[in-house]
Amino acid sequence: MSTAYYSPPECRLHDMGEGHPECPQRLEAIADHLLATGLDIALDYRDATPATIEQLARAHSAGYVNELQNLLGAVASERRPRALDPDTVASPGTGRAALMAAGAALAATDAVIGGSVDNAFCAIRPPGHHATRDETMGFCFFNNVAVAARHALDVHGLKRVAIIDFDVHHGNGTEDIIAGDERVLMCSFFQHPLYPYSGAVPKGTNMVNVPVPPYTRGGELRETIESHWIPALDAFAPQMIFISAGFDAHREDDLGQLGLVEADYEWITRRLLAVAERHAGGRVVSCLEGGYNLSALARSVAAHLRVLAGV
Ligand SMILES: [Zn+2]
Repeated sequence: MSTAYYSPPECRLHDMGEGHPECPQRLEAIADHLLATGLDIALDYRDATPATIEQLARAHSAGYVNELQNLLGAVASERRPRALDPDTVASPGTGRAALMAAGAALAATDAVIGGSVDNAFCAIRPPGHHATRDETMGFCFFNNVAVAARHALDVHGLKRVAIIDFDVHHGNGTEDIIAGDERVLMCSFFQHPLYPYSGAVPKGTNMVNVPVPPYTRGGELRETIESHWIPALDAFAPQMIFISAGFDAHREDDLGQLGLVEADYEWITRRLLAVAERHAGGRVVSCLEGGYNLSALARSVAAHLRVLAGV
């Protein structure tokens, strides 16, 4: 099995300020752990190019993409950070980071559909799943996974793709973009109630939303996945699977109160890969979302990657 690995250096340029949990050190912790465990040699490290306005506008409104590009350009030339909403701060490097994060998801999609690799993981930031069609939100600027999924549908001509979101927070931005797009099935679980306090009532019939209470542990989540996600995925028969891979449902992560451990991420990845093998020729593109305890994040990404790379 071959797994492409994308982590553009520009993604470390985005900086939301001293002590912020969504920090460049997240990517450094992952990179260091891959080297320390030797997992790096199992991965096919690849480069990406920045996403274009046209590519971003498949998931966002053209007005939003243009306005945000201008704003991020202004922040870069002013060399001063600017808060875009209560949770999301743009720094001078954010524009380049955000375009490369989405660009990596697009390059991964091209590589997997092109068949040069079996699957791909993008260690990218800023994350994307709270970014709606028209708004930044919750540390997110462009919705990397939604942009990539629309690229697979609109450019490569796929008919059905699935988006799986296992971040501890509800992927409200992705739901906002793809609710009602019957070419996409979105399956998620998320702690509820918790930021952004949405998701309990799905916005579309193409959503499998599973809110779970605080302190839910891996065993219960596995049962939930088995009974809610897997039958829906098998019925939908996606031709490709995108994963919003947030690792903040880990029990060591302070931004949520769920109880997953590395073995649970390994199990989830195995189940999803099996679905991909049944219906999608094994095609999976996984993109980093949350995960803020640096050690737990790095270990969980490694567990996810070991399954993807079959090592
Ligand atoms: Zn999260």
